[in-house]
Amino acid sequence: MSEKIQMVDLSTQYKKIKSEIDIAVLQVIESCAFINGPSVQHFRTNLEQYLDVKHVIPCANGTDALQIALMALDLQPSDEVIVPSFTYVATAEVIGLLRLTPVLVDVNLDDFNISINEIKEAITDKTKVIVPVHLFGQCAQMEEIMSIARSKGIYVVEDNAQAIGADFIFKDGARKKSGVIGHIGCTSFFPSKNLGCYGDGGAIFTDDDELAGKLRMIANHGQSKQYYHDVIGVNSRLDSIQAAILDIKLKHLDQYNQSRQKAADYYDSKFANHSEIITPVRAKHSTHVFHQYTLRILNDKRDGLKAFLDLLSIPSGIYYPVPLNEQKAFTHMLNRAHHLPVTETLCKEVISLPMHSELNPAIQDRIINAVLEFLSK
Ligand SMILES: *Cc1c(COP(=O)(O)O)cnc(C)c1O
Repeated sequence: MSEKIQMVDLSTQYKKIKSEIDIAVLQVIESCAFINGPSVQHFRTNLEQYLDVKHVIPCANGTDALQIALMALDLQPSDEVIVPSFTYVATAEVIGLLRLTPVLVDVNLDDFNISINEIKEAITDKTKVIVPVHLFGQCAQMEEIMSIARSKGIYVVEDNAQAIGADFIFKDGARKKSGVIGHIGCTSFFPSKNLGCYGDGGAIFTDDDELAGKLRMIANHGQSKQYYHDVIGVNSRLDSIQAAILDIKLKHLDQYNQSRQKAADYYDSKFANHSEIITPVRAKHSTHVFHQYTLRILNDKRDGLKAFLDLLSIPSGIYYPVPLNEQKAFTHMLNRAHHLPVTETLCKEVISLPMHSELNPAIQDRIINAVLEFLSK
């Protein structure tokens, strides 16, 4: 029997760092510093250094990070927030939760990220924030987005849940880490993300001291000093055990991302020039850390391919099957006619293949052969 193929192989990854992780977790348990212990401060400082950003504010998960970011911007009900229609629900959900108006805009067919022209068309006097999502591990066009935002006095909150460790490459060749280009960046440490903990976790980034103060206060019950609450906040913390795990995994992040890139190159080489497969486009303005390796399958064959892979117990994922503008939870909030042709096409064509730091050509060949076999029928 050949080994079972996994979408994400956290178990092999853990075994390679088990001795380090086990000691760190035990240390937290023995210290009983479960909440805001030293491991949280160490990880925060190390992540600030890695990202080259002034402030990292750890929190409980990526959805909270987005919510806290929007809460810090002094928005009014019905202020508009521009967000891509092709993303995970959390990006738009927090906008609705805060009684703001999500304005869903279409994405690019090539890199799946928010379209600059669509942003320009969607801006009104009520637009207060743009939330680009660095989908599947590759940055949105941040230079263009920041220049629109500057000219209109709009905030930019990056949803960096899928791209931690990616480099944004400016036109002059300068580089910055994804998530630290906008006014605020948000990420998730959900186990399957590129930097994942062993439970839930998240963080918010900013270079702005004043925003950092607000974000910290909101994440901690709106508290300015103990038992003095200046604003309505939330309770959102990264726990000490998760921080200890993340602090170890952060040291391996670049290597994990390189393994993903290598696996993506291998997939690319086997799918290149196939008439019914479009392999992931590599944008000039970003490195790609392949949170997902996502193909477009042409000629309405995607669903058949998915069923064929299921039959062979080869995991695959459809991220995302339904455009946000067609989700019941959002239809009543959308105050404009919505036809988002690129998102609608992508929802029918995309399929994500197994992608993680522990892949090798032997495993990938089984996946690749199955895909090619189905498409040759
Ligand atoms: C995972 C993810 C989130 C939410 O993160 P959680 O930690 O699960 O709350 C938000 N946005 C995107 C794009 C994501 O992939």
